Amino acid sequence: MTTAAVIVAAGRGSRAGGEVPKQWQMLAGRPVLAHAIDAFRAQTDRIVVVIHPADRARAEAVAAGCDLVPGGATRDASVRNALEALAGAGVERVLIHDGARPLVSPAVIGRVLAALETYSGAAPALPVTDALWRGAEGLVAGTQDRSALWRAQTPQGFRFADILAAHRAYQGVAADDVEVARAAGLDVAIVEGEEANLKLTFPGDFARAEAILKGRGMDVRLGNGYDVHAFTDGDGVWLCGVKVPHGRALLGHSDADVGMHALTDAIYGALAEGDIGRHFPPSDPQWKGAASHIFLRHAADLMRARGYHLANCDVTLVCERPKIGPHAAAMQATLAEIMGVEPGRVSVKATTSERLGFTGREEGIAALATACLVRS
Ligand code: MG
Repeated sequence: MTTAAVIVAAGRGSRAGGEVPKQWQMLAGRPVLAHAIDAFRAQTDRIVVVIHPADRARAEAVAAGCDLVPGGATRDASVRNALEALAGAGVERVLIHDGARPLVSPAVIGRVLAALETYSGAAPALPVTDALWRGAEGLVAGTQDRSALWRAQTPQGFRFADILAAHRAYQGVAADDVEVARAAGLDVAIVEGEEANLKLTFPGDFARAEAILKGRGMDVRLGNGYDVHAFTDGDGVWLCGVKVPHGRALLGHSDADVGMHALTDAIYGALAEGDIGRHFPPSDPQWKGAASHIFLRHAADLMRARGYHLANCDVTLVCERPKIGPHAAAMQATLAEIMGVEPGRVSVKATTSERLGFTGREEGIAALATACLVRS
């Protein structure tokens, strides 16, 4: 089932203080919006970010792989722009989220998606626990029963066709998408929200959000990569960015650098970003014969854009020949330079397969790689 996220970040809200709108202020070293976008990457197929046109350049830096849509005059108009941009694209479920809620958890997103199996709409909320008063002229004028009251959060999730139709039909200004959905007669289930899923509104909220992020600790991610290229005629093989003289070459669409391909896929894997083929489709002639460092640099840039650094990586080349040992230090230095990390975080080693299998018969070379990414 195709699931999209719409992240609304077109507001110019300044209640949070600061020189720039709150979704662009820094939280733990990255823009608030970057945190919000990343929260949805693993559980959605597509992300649309609604931005103010003046923010396009900075949005491109944090929203790699997302569609950018210009906001409208109101929040409703902004959401509608995003939904119209997704119309006809086969999207079945959509999660509409406020870009100023950077700490939404996978669990909250999962509960909204699970409820959409049963309901047309679902949204997280927390029960009101404080007593509620009505006040007038500084005095308590009465109490308010809180038993049926909820504090609404986002993402608000809907079956796509239903919420698109609801937005097209809606007149006036709505508080949120649940109001639009209800006006169209949709049932919206309440699922359990989280206190940490706060909306950054006032300056003090940033300190609270940073403290919550610190409490969550480090995010450590592992990825693995595996690649094989067959031998063909030639005078050397490209391995981990180094041309190693050999009586043969490796056959491949690009420079066939099997080690660098495995490492690139390990980084994409750690980011849940697919593989080289997703970012550089072999069907696209512009990547024919492309040097593999373009792929590895892209993966490393994406890693940094997500706020991770490379703790270490380890590449194992599997071949009988050529001998890798004499070139391993040069490969380590080359990979480190391409990724912009210290060489001590990069390992390149090799093994034979004891003359067994395709590598043993010297039909080709295989490579395995592991990458460990850390965000603190
Ligand atoms: Mg390859």
